[in-house]
Amino acid sequence: MKIAVLKERADGETRVAATPETVKKFIGLGNEVALEEGAGATASITDEAFAEAGAILGDAAATVKDADIVLGVQAPEAALLAGAKPGAWVAALFDPFQQGERVEVYAKAGLEALSMEFMPRITRAQSMDVLSSQSNLAGYKAVLAAADEYGRAFPMMMTAAGTVQAARCFVMGVGVAGLQAIATAKRLGAQVSATDVRPETAEQITSLGAKAVFAEGLEAAGEGGYAAELTDEQKAKQAELVSEHIAKQDLVITTALIPGRKAPVLVTDAQIATMKPGSVIFDLAVAQGGNVEGSKPDEVVVKHGVKVMGFSNTPAHLAADASALFARNHFNFLSAFWDKEAGKPQLDEEIGDAIRLTKGGEVVNARLKG
Ligand code: NAD
Repeated sequence: MKIAVLKERADGETRVAATPETVKKFIGLGNEVALEEGAGATASITDEAFAEAGAILGDAAATVKDADIVLGVQAPEAALLAGAKPGAWVAALFDPFQQGERVEVYAKAGLEALSMEFMPRITRAQSMDVLSSQSNLAGYKAVLAAADEYGRAFPMMMTAAGTVQAARCFVMGVGVAGLQAIATAKRLGAQVSATDVRPETAEQITSLGAKAVFAEGLEAAGEGGYAAELTDEQKAKQAELVSEHIAKQDLVITTALIPGRKAPVLVTDAQIATMKPGSVIFDLAVAQGGNVEGSKPDEVVVKHGVKVMGFSNTPAHLAADASALFARNHFNFLSAFWDKEAGKPQLDEEIGDAIRLTKGGEVVNARLKG
């Protein structure tokens, strides 16, 4: 099999879908790995390091020519893949709900699109789950970026010149990113509290040494370990809870997402106005519509003296580690299904049907077909 990896072309994308480590492992399975020259540059991986691992480097056309499998972070334009084998697999992030047109183009091009964000939340797929690996790093980076904008320190400090108070940090949404945000803010010395709409997260919050802040009856557990949307009544209850708590916070990190929907608004302009000047809000959902009213991707918006910020692509701010984990997710995925006799991967129904968007010229995914 020929496995191809192109340089990422999306704006602001710094990651790469393979590393020298995964190149070696794929070659160990009997494959040829082709990489576009410069693909690893923004993730601090040189062409020489890839070549040493056994990859063949070339331009985009040579890289995809006759490829059986193309690996990406974000799915490349289908036009770039014209030279790949008919029916070639493309495993990457497809953003399928927002980028329906791209999915159609992939179908028409006869490619088999495998959407890594549709990986089911089952134990055996954990090591293949790019949403988890990238969210974890994003939660960490969000706290560091917020700390950098914050004009005060995180830990309490007793100095000869007097005491510096510990910062209060509130994490809203305690999935993978939120848990890492809690852990990071704790390590920096902040007093941390957190909330979610899935009740099981309360124990996870306290086990990290943070305070769980929950409104009674505010439960919205959806399918597959994800959250569901709140009813209007629940939204009002949550708003009341947030209003009470947020005025006392110095830092707020929001991470709330609902699959297939715009991110829920958790912090309104009126609530921001109750916070102290100099406070910082990092909106990790800014690229999905935003949890915070008025947040803008890649800008620090000052509202009522509060800095509201968020990155359009947070893992891209940790390109080397994010690439290393993303590349391993790809390898763990393909190698788990490797059929040694056939010399290629054979997907099973549970995972294959969940992530396959297109095949044989058609859009085939149940979630997309409604
Ligand atoms: P996510 O990114 O979809 O959402 C982030 C968090 O926001 C979630 O905890 C969600 O409950 C919360 N949220 C949604 N609406 C909210 C609201 N109105 N107010 C407050 N919080 C709100 O979630 P995620 O990080 O992908 O993780 C979801 C769950 O799936 C976690 O329990 C995680 O451990 C689990 N998970 C399992 C696997 C696996 O088994 N393979 C892999 C990854 C994650």
